[in-house]
Amino acid sequence: MSKLDSKIPAGPLAEKWTKHKNEINLVNPANKRNIDVIVVGTGLAGASSAATLAELGYNVKTFCYQDSPRRAHSIAAQGGINAAKNYQGDGDSDFRLFYDTIKGGDYRSREANVYRLAEVSSNIIDQCVAQGVPFAREYGGLLDNRSFGGVLVSRTFYAKGQTGQQLLLGAYGAMNRQIQRGKIQSFTRHEMLDLVIIDGKARGIIARDLISGEIERHAAHAVVLATGGYGNVFFLSTMAMGCNVTAAWRTHKRGAFFANPCYTQIHPTCIPVSGDHQSKLTLMSESLRNDGRIWVPKRKEDAIAIREGRLKPTELKKEDRDYFLERRYPAFGNLVPRDVASRAAKERCDAGFGVNKTGEAVYLDFASAIERYGKEKALTSGIKDADKATITKLGEEIIEAKYGNLFQMYEKIVDENPYKTPMMIYPAVHYTMGGLWVDYNLQTTIPGCYSAGEANFSDHGANRLGASALMQGLADGYFVLPYTIGDYLSDDIQTGPISTDSPEFEKVENEIKERINKLMSASGKNSVDYYHKKLGKIMWNKCGMARNEAGLKEAIEEIAALRKDFWENVNIPGNADGMNTELEKAGRVADFLELGELFAKDALHRNESCGGHFREEYQSPEGEAMRDDENFAYVGAWEYKGEPKDAVLHKEDLVFENVKLVTRSYK
Ligand SMILES: Cc1cc2nc3c(=O)[nH]c(=O)nc-3n(C[C@H](O)[C@H](O)[C@H](O)COP(=O)(O)OP(=O)(O)OC[C@H]3O[C@@H](n4cnc5c(N)ncnc54)[C@H](O)[C@@H]3O)c2cc1C
Repeated sequence: MSKLDSKIPAGPLAEKWTKHKNEINLVNPANKRNIDVIVVGTGLAGASSAATLAELGYNVKTFCYQDSPRRAHSIAAQGGINAAKNYQGDGDSDFRLFYDTIKGGDYRSREANVYRLAEVSSNIIDQCVAQGVPFAREYGGLLDNRSFGGVLVSRTFYAKGQTGQQLLLGAYGAMNRQIQRGKIQSFTRHEMLDLVIIDGKARGIIARDLISGEIERHAAHAVVLATGGYGNVFFLSTMAMGCNVTAAWRTHKRGAFFANPCYTQIHPTCIPVSGDHQSKLTLMSESLRNDGRIWVPKRKEDAIAIREGRLKPTELKKEDRDYFLERRYPAFGNLVPRDVASRAAKERCDAGFGVNKTGEAVYLDFASAIERYGKEKALTSGIKDADKATITKLGEEIIEAKYGNLFQMYEKIVDENPYKTPMMIYPAVHYTMGGLWVDYNLQTTIPGCYSAGEANFSDHGANRLGASALMQGLADGYFVLPYTIGDYLSDDIQTGPISTDSPEFEKVENEIKERINKLMSASGKNSVDYYHKKLGKIMWNKCGMARNEAGLKEAIEEIAALRKDFWENVNIPGNADGMNTELEKAGRVADFLELGELFAKDALHRNESCGGHFREEYQSPEGEAMRDDENFAYVGAWEYKGEPKDAVLHKEDLVFENVKLVTRSYK
């Protein structure tokens, strides 16, 4: 096992980034014109990277598997994006954002990266406003903020419940300007299937044109992977159906270390699973926890009556309800971090207090907020002694203005009116904190191969705070990578164009073709989804919200056996010479079947509970996660050695000089 060098600059925390920027090598504008960069992924991280690199003068090629960058999963982001602007005057600062993020991640992230993230957060908002992103505004014109979990300030900027969409339109607009200038060549409906390394450096990719089926070679001086997260290894998640690990995983197999694969975020407020036919779960944004109160009945008999349809939640008196987050965590209440809220909901449901038919749901109730807002609105509208109906109407209007699209989405899916009856929610897989290991410069362990956004192991440690993923993806793309990649590319100013006509490209292309042939010639009877669903069940039951040694060992065996069965018995209809969505899925599921095993192996080796990684053996008497800082205060980065079971662990020790390592408390 080796120790990894994260290349964190020396000096005081708050000066590291500035100092680093001043010291790294630059590429002059004329030389940038001779340098090509491939950016795989055009979600927020990729689009912002590509637009900025092209604006700087590099020649950029972008790739995405959708028909337009606008369809990246980033578009689904609802709640908002954090920035330490302190518009509310509620005591926010770069340090507080840094501190909240380190604490929220249960002290498993890198101090220097997180501080840099906090430092550039305000620039992101300015950049996006300049692009025309329509953030919500207060009456006076200032940008509005709301609160997200794990913090005591309001620092979340938002555009109704469509923040990701609006930010992506901004980044896509910036990309389009460069496409028009000829500085970005955009390859849509293209899937990267492998990385090409020449003389130890990433020099290109092999991609499949998803319409023609053609296998293509693309060369560059550096490759950026901004290919998103791998939550769909669980089959059911809140992520877009296409999200996958293929680009990151194939790069891992070429030498990039994969860090903390077991750190997964389970989001507390999702629409519960309704049956086996489902292929997707729906998020109810965390922003709803600003106003929604989470509860279950205090008495089991009431929970049973509700489940059996004999009692309505609205008929249960306030004193008969258990607002369990407010009870357990009075300081943060309903706005505890996601891992804490999810576990608390699971605990109540496991104890028999769940409120839907399967017993796996808790309530998210807006009645108090509707009443509170309604009374306030009546007063400010000059309506004295407003009756209940008027207060409710006014309150509902305010809730609609804030969260209208989310309420509409809930009603369409569940067929219940959430203004009149509480929403039912349950935790679901939502985000992956693990990913490609990168150093301070966002470079993987393969020189010239960088990773940004959710695809890298990110700055969030063992748990990501709400509204921090958009911040990280855009920080990486607009403000970090464009500087750090120049340092590396300054060595390439005289290299000249990289040819695709080399034995290295030939070899990787042939390997990809063989792999596709192998998939197509498996003559089994099971669909790709058959395997994906089976994998998802193993992952959820044995590597999900709670894990233990025995279950993880079983998962490792079961996933390995499932993978073997997949390669023998999968059935992919059609052929590989044109559009074949089953073939696309098969390639991705094959990678999930390898990643899943490494995930379980990582969770098994980490004999502690931290953030989203909850090992049942390591918990306090109150059921809180118990970290082991003495033995596990490190990033675990795995090196590929043939099979997931043979992967070798490397450590990056985490050094905490600016925060004290203490037990995380939200009480
Ligand atoms: C429902 C939902 C709501 C959310 N709300 C919020 C929120 O309010 N605030 C917040 O901060 N975060 C939120 N998140 C998280 C956040 O949206 C994501 O973490 C973030 O958008 C990821 O951005 P990205 O650019 O890293 O990846 P993505 O947006 O996933 O983009 C990945 C890109 O990579 C491409 N790609 C992938 N593989 C390949 C391949 N092999 N070849 C070619 N292209 C490839 C895709 O085509 C796509 O362009 C939410 C997540 C979900 C699921």
